[in-house]
Amino acid sequence: MTAHRPTSKPTAPRPLPPLSTVGILGGGQLGRMLAGAAARLGFRTHIFAPEKDSPAFDIATAKTVAVYDDETALDAFAAAVDVITYEFENVPVEAAFRLAHHRPVFPDANALSVAQDRLKERIFLNNWDIETAPHATIDSLDALVCESEAFNGPCVLKTRRFGYDGKGQAKLNSPSDAARAWETVAGARSILEAFVPFEMEISVIACRDRYGATAAYAATHNTHVNHILSVSRAPAPIAPETQARARALAVRIVDALNYVGVIGVEMFLVRSKEEGDRLIVNEIAPRVHNSGHWTLDAAVTDQFEQHIRAITGHHLGDTKRTADAEMLNLIGDEAEDLTPFFSEPRVKVHHYGKAEARPGRKMGHVTRLLPLSNGRPDGSISRNG
Ligand code: AMP
Repeated sequence: MTAHRPTSKPTAPRPLPPLSTVGILGGGQLGRMLAGAAARLGFRTHIFAPEKDSPAFDIATAKTVAVYDDETALDAFAAAVDVITYEFENVPVEAAFRLAHHRPVFPDANALSVAQDRLKERIFLNNWDIETAPHATIDSLDALVCESEAFNGPCVLKTRRFGYDGKGQAKLNSPSDAARAWETVAGARSILEAFVPFEMEISVIACRDRYGATAAYAATHNTHVNHILSVSRAPAPIAPETQARARALAVRIVDALNYVGVIGVEMFLVRSKEEGDRLIVNEIAPRVHNSGHWTLDAAVTDQFEQHIRAITGHHLGDTKRTADAEMLNLIGDEAEDLTPFFSEPRVKVHHYGKAEARPGRKMGHVTRLLPLSNGRPDGSISRNG
């Protein structure tokens, strides 16, 4: 199927004035950093989250502690805010639709439903001629055995929903691993995809405002430990042409979704002698993204401010890098003693205010500022509107 550019332009919004309230679903560190950016721009924030000790509550003006299917709480929340966004993609789509009856919700429920389901996501991307790993739909162990034989090589089984940081995922080296993999995903509806022999993992943070203008930050190089993001380096050490292509690809996705806000697009870079650098999209995250945390300290406008600007009907800021950067996630007990980081003057320290350091829990991050490489400018904004 050939993809078509959306014909509908976003309707001209009235930008929200200072002291308007931004409602945020989700109270983790992303909500906390969004609330910080909103406060700087003169907005109030209201966080809706089920956990009583949500780190975003420390920063926000108001909070609601309730589950996402509590309709009474959702309606009261909508009545108390001027615009609504979310900091994680597993917000029930029904909640987003319900809220959208009362207030604008950005990114909209369509973007949310595409990003929540790996199968829908891949169908959407492929319809727009964006390459993903070859995949098959899996609804039974028999189908898994059959499809893994057809792939004839290593592959990865992924649950269609609720997978993140490698959860809900199992690698199969051969069809004989099928039963174990099916058990790992507890028989959930899944996709099987070819294992991609990538050179590196990169991501691009892109954004689109309510007028249709788009921008993208420099692609970053991401390394993972135990499936959790460990380090992001900006810019990724890739050819300028590949940088430009990666950023253009992320912008195509926000345009195709008629998207408003910040998005994270994760890609595999595959290098081949014959075809040069190939970019294969692994995942889109309809929100601010961990691999964009470096922008807080090394870009003219950080991703959190950018998201708040976009959803409140303001124009985007410049995405240009002001330094090269290396962002290191602090996981579990790694954030207990921050003094070594404070002793480095060009390291910026971020702690998320979480009291309990569970293994694998993201507790904070640090960004090391490096001399600006003389790469191409990252920051141009295209104004379609
Ligand atoms: P995901 O939950 O899809 O982001 O996957 C988590 C991590 O697993 C990725 O960052 C990759 O390191 C790895 N991974 C996922 N899918 C594939 C694949 N098809 N081929 C190779 N590695 C993969």
